[in-house]
Amino acid sequence: MKNISSVLLISALAFNYSCTTTMKTNDIKQEIPVPDASLSSNPFMKKSKLQYEAPEFDKIKNEHFKPAFEFGLKQHDAEILKIANNSEAATFENTIVALEKSGEILKRALITFSNLTSANTNPTLQALDEEYAPIFAAHSDKMYLNENLYKRIKSISENGLDSESKRLVQFYKQNFEIAGANLSSADKEKLKQVNQELASLSTQYSNKLLEARKQGGIFFSDAKELDGLSADEISAAASDAKTAGQAGKYLLALQNTTQQPLLQNLKNRATREKLFKASWTRAEKSDANDTRETIEKLAKLRLKKAQILGKKSFAEWKLQDQMAKNPEAAVKLMNQIATPAVETAKREAKDIQDLIDQQKGGFKVEPWDWNFYAEQVRKAKFDLDENQIKPYFEITTVLEKGVFFAAEKFYGLTFKKRTDLPVYHPDVVTYEVFDHDGKSIAIYYLDFYTRDSKSGGAWMSNYVEQSYLLGTKPVIVNCYNYQKPAAGKPSLISFDDVSTIFHEFGHSIHGMFASQKYPSLSGTNVPRDFVEFPSQINEHWALDPVVLKNYALHYETKQPIPQALVDKIKKAGTFNQGYMTTELVSAAALDMDWHSVTNESQLLPVLDFEKQSLNSHGFTLATVPPRYHTPYFAHIWGGGYSAGYYAYLWSETLDNDAWEWIEKNGGLTRENGDRFRKYILSVGNSVDLNQAFRDFTGHDPDIKPLLRNRGFIK
Ligand SMILES: [Zn+2]
Repeated sequence: MKNISSVLLISALAFNYSCTTTMKTNDIKQEIPVPDASLSSNPFMKKSKLQYEAPEFDKIKNEHFKPAFEFGLKQHDAEILKIANNSEAATFENTIVALEKSGEILKRALITFSNLTSANTNPTLQALDEEYAPIFAAHSDKMYLNENLYKRIKSISENGLDSESKRLVQFYKQNFEIAGANLSSADKEKLKQVNQELASLSTQYSNKLLEARKQGGIFFSDAKELDGLSADEISAAASDAKTAGQAGKYLLALQNTTQQPLLQNLKNRATREKLFKASWTRAEKSDANDTRETIEKLAKLRLKKAQILGKKSFAEWKLQDQMAKNPEAAVKLMNQIATPAVETAKREAKDIQDLIDQQKGGFKVEPWDWNFYAEQVRKAKFDLDENQIKPYFEITTVLEKGVFFAAEKFYGLTFKKRTDLPVYHPDVVTYEVFDHDGKSIAIYYLDFYTRDSKSGGAWMSNYVEQSYLLGTKPVIVNCYNYQKPAAGKPSLISFDDVSTIFHEFGHSIHGMFASQKYPSLSGTNVPRDFVEFPSQINEHWALDPVVLKNYALHYETKQPIPQALVDKIKKAGTFNQGYMTTELVSAAALDMDWHSVTNESQLLPVLDFEKQSLNSHGFTLATVPPRYHTPYFAHIWGGGYSAGYYAYLWSETLDNDAWEWIEKNGGLTRENGDRFRKYILSVGNSVDLNQAFRDFTGHDPDIKPLLRNRGFIK
């Protein structure tokens, strides 16, 4: 995923502020405050001296954030007032460019803060997050709801502007309208209140969920209960238990999704059931980490916000500036995928039940059995065993000889490890990225391993965004939650995990190739249902024969993966797609339902609402639960994917269609890479993205390649 919550907030602040209603005259000078001596050692006050303004993690301390926020808010307020109250006629330069340049200190502090609260938080940062979420929401509203500023933006002539600048004017106008610039004063006041409450609730939700995941892991006292796990996995569980203060026991920690990767290998059915139920119920235990009440408040308030803004539902409001444009288009896409997905999942369930019956199991398949038996069906059908593959996927080899290698072959990029730049945690590694002509283009951090201070899942985010106007180059991070191997042991991952690393790096390339003047339109600052397109395209390289041969090396023998095994992986490519698609599309439908309510009375208690939603779409297979259950659906309650989880499917339509074009035109060639970079990766949001897609493929997106790729049609 793309870490959108932080970026949204930051880009919101990029064009943010001020609330006087009378024009001040030119002789009232707006003083812009400068930092005083008390702030002289605060690392956020000045541009970092490190390469590409990479954050000075060796100097940044918890106590620097609050003063940086306070000063940054004051400075940004003054800058915005000055722009809004300028007595000269509004021009592109004195209004929009000035806004793009404003808030430098605040943005610098905030971008680091939001990255750290996701990747390496602590109680001080969590408390600050709760304290400042409503303050930042109010700060953002001050600009969007400023009448003078909106009038100025509307009056700017686009004559003589280049195409990126014209697009930026349109972008500002649209964002002001979406944010409520046309509302009456009374409605603006109501909206401000709602936005602040929403920001607080969302932060509370994320903090509760982080704790719920941490507390949700289960301890086992006997290694026998973990039968089926590898010796390394068992020793990791023992060391996790020790760290958690229960030496002698074994701790199975929770991943953020419903299904837990270890379920595939756990032979003891009671252990599987315990682990699955711990996952499913993690945030509904009626304790301090129960998220349901917060969710119910969020859903109600989002509806209220949409109604203030003159829309029927939150989804209708949210989708205005997305590729889909309205919920109907997103729902249409989901329906096209849901029916064949559920049908396929039913056949898969039957295969699994047949196997259980053959083995005289004497029970009906439950969700905690699915992956364990699916794995056996896969072995029987395709003679393919996940444990046969894993020794070929050592994590750093996958990265350097797979992900980096594909980027070199396709785009000409090269990478050099850096050990001189400070990092925020000892597990983080750093690379410098060089273009095909040898020019340095970006700094790239990589943070592989799970820890209690990190949010679940995998994501990409920027520490510094590319902009010619600001003279900045990208500083990017990819975060994951892989189990850290015991000391001296290799980190061996599944093929799904390999795909995830290619995926997140696809977001990173999108950021690295950004080539915009204005930060608001740069790189991955694109609609949510487009942002997953470059990342999903990049996943395909994992199975490219040239790439695969280069990275899939046995961790002991260093021998490349045998061709016979590769053939099996490919043949098994559509295996379990009914399950995987159903869990994805049911989560997407659930998200859209939560945000499509048009009346408060439609909002039932969380678990009832979810049940009703899933039933109404025909997601009735109890064995195939949604990828995220409402209480821990962090994308939509804590992140920026509310009414936007369908984006994965929308982007996948673009991805599969564009991938067919690449394959038909020779696959892994520098020529194809340059073309994809030119039309898609380097344009940010500076052009019409539907047109960008047409420029690349020569046609409008077609859903058939997606259905073919998932094995639903021939
Ligand atoms: Zn993604």
